[in-house]
Amino acid sequence: MALRSPVFGEAWQNDIATAAANTAYAVMRGEPTVNGAIELARNAMAATSRLAAGLLARAPSGAVACRAGCDHCCYQSVGVTPPEALAIADHLKTTLPDAQLARVTRHVSECHEKTRALPSAERFSPDHPCPFLEAGRCAVYEVRPLSCRGMNSLDAGECATRLRDPEARAAFLARGLGGRSFMEPIRASQAISAGLQLSLSELFRLDMRPLELTAAMHLLLTGPESLADAWLRGQRPFEPARGADRGKDPGLGEPIEALGLAPGRDP
Ligand code: SF4
Repeated sequence: MALRSPVFGEAWQNDIATAAANTAYAVMRGEPTVNGAIELARNAMAATSRLAAGLLARAPSGAVACRAGCDHCCYQSVGVTPPEALAIADHLKTTLPDAQLARVTRHVSECHEKTRALPSAERFSPDHPCPFLEAGRCAVYEVRPLSCRGMNSLDAGECATRLRDPEARAAFLARGLGGRSFMEPIRASQAISAGLQLSLSELFRLDMRPLELTAAMHLLLTGPESLADAWLRGQRPFEPARGADRGKDPGLGEPIEALGLAPGRDP
């Protein structure tokens, strides 16, 4: 498959999105399944981490401020695609003992109750940590979302100030996205996510509109197992997990018919 027209301004991002779309098509070829979607998400997660590591290796020594235990970026609304959400739910259900899974599910639901009506700007707050943040570390690190893998700050002090100082936070939110981050890994994660979204929405007609992580996990951990099958049938069972400001979230949303057959390639 090839892009009919560029999705990103930078050619390297379009190349990555095209490669991700082709990988997604190869993994999901035939009848899409829940296991295929989970495999696809895990492939995308691994590819994003590999790309981010390669890009970070080119940064000047000491430039990237992120360290284990530094969690300032884990207090905000996080966007995920349905396959990522399915992979995280599967990870929790297959690795946690029943009692621990019940505890995590309760905690996710409590966080969801507190945040379900809040737009993204109000989610960026020390009052609303990600439900998977435990003692400064990510409890789902192995399957953390693509956007979490792309985030790398150049100034941890600035991250702390803009989260915890109300004036700095208001100024940051008024300016929109920004801050001193290493942008290439973020752009790489966006390109891989775009390839995933394009492939599944345009080739398989699956609803790939982005979800809000806490809401999606609440839905998958407390809802019926049949949710994933309904999604594979082209229905929209994840609509309740779109987040409070669903109109503003990043992502490609509805199919934009950007993918086409590359010359000489079979579908
Ligand atoms: S999933 Fe993990 S890395 Fe991402 S915001 Fe939550 S705790 Fe942080």
